[in-house]
Amino acid sequence: MQNRQPKQGFNFDKYPIFEQDIDPKQRAWIEVKGKALEANVRQLRTKLSTNCQFMAVVKADGYGHDAKVVSDYAIRGGASELGVATLKEGIKLRSFGVKKPILILGNLYTKRDLIISFKNDLMPTISSIRECLICNNIGKHFGLKFSLHLKIDTGMSRLGFESSKFVQQFEKIKSFENISIEGIYSHLSSADEDNALNSQSITQLQRLKFNELLKQINLDQDNEIKIHLANSAGMLLNKDFHFQMVRVGLSMYGYSPLAKIDKNLLLKPALYLKANVAFIRIIDQGVSVSYGGKFVSRRQTKLAVLSIGYADGVPRNLSGKINVIHNNKFYPQVGSITMDQMMVDITDSNEIRIGSTMVLLGSDGDKTISPLEWARKSNTIPWEILCSFKNRLPRVQVD
Ligand SMILES: *Cc1c(COP(=O)(O)O)cnc(C)c1O
Repeated sequence: MQNRQPKQGFNFDKYPIFEQDIDPKQRAWIEVKGKALEANVRQLRTKLSTNCQFMAVVKADGYGHDAKVVSDYAIRGGASELGVATLKEGIKLRSFGVKKPILILGNLYTKRDLIISFKNDLMPTISSIRECLICNNIGKHFGLKFSLHLKIDTGMSRLGFESSKFVQQFEKIKSFENISIEGIYSHLSSADEDNALNSQSITQLQRLKFNELLKQINLDQDNEIKIHLANSAGMLLNKDFHFQMVRVGLSMYGYSPLAKIDKNLLLKPALYLKANVAFIRIIDQGVSVSYGGKFVSRRQTKLAVLSIGYADGVPRNLSGKINVIHNNKFYPQVGSITMDQMMVDITDSNEIRIGSTMVLLGSDGDKTISPLEWARKSNTIPWEILCSFKNRLPRVQVD
């Protein structure tokens, strides 16, 4: 490298040179609205009975929003527990100083991982006697009780004790002295389907099976075990699904998973995706734009190049199907979305400049673009859209 000392009279110190000195809003970024999240949790909790607790599900870095910000605001809104998918996600929350109970929703199956979980005061999800035994041995070794949740499979066929064997296995589990069963739960596979409330739906059959098993294990009247079944969709169906706790992800972030939306529920999106215009050019009529020349201008066209692409997590199959918002107006994205950039037709604007900020998701004036819309257009679900955003996008917390 050359000697990069400036000539005399040039104030070099004014210009940052370190990565952390770069403005997080220099290119493209995600704004996380903590207050919206807090308000969503508060509002969702008004649907619950007073003895029903709210677990904020903050797996996958808080559905891409930043797990620390989400946890802080969810707790302010009244969440009493947190759910993560992995051991690492749980440890990370502890390192941020989160004190609430944390449940790991994924499966830990080695002694080593279960010990790490125990030492960090994280509760594992237990789906077999084998894992239960390991936890009991760990508890014994420390002279303490290992807190955990038991999971029953009622129709998801993923994790959980087999329902036909659970009652018998629970008898054995009760004899383990160094575990503390903090919860018993199951997970709904289809609560966001339109027919979920029909008496013969998978969802109702799962609920009935879960209830039946709980009746058969005959818990003491004064037990402290939390029973839980519902995700966002299950929670929004009705109180029959609430039990002592609900595990809420998507709706806390501001989107209802149900097609039939409750008019009284006013969820606010907590995530805004924004990108700056990095370059502007004017092309003639009949000129092709981006890889493959899939878009050809039908008139003289002014293009804005935005610094965001599929390497940031914008699905490439949305190419040519989305709009962006600037100053309460929509502008169509044109041509293939590339790895790091995309083009937008701004012919109708004379106010957009290099450096102008465009909204890809969220609201501006009375215009809104939702991840639900992106999900529909790219043939996926909003959960996948939210957790596709990459680390390259700085998360900026705003109120
Ligand atoms: C992700 C997850 C949830 C939250 O689901 P949403 O539909 O986002 O509310 C709840 N429970 C379990 C077991 C999960 O894995």
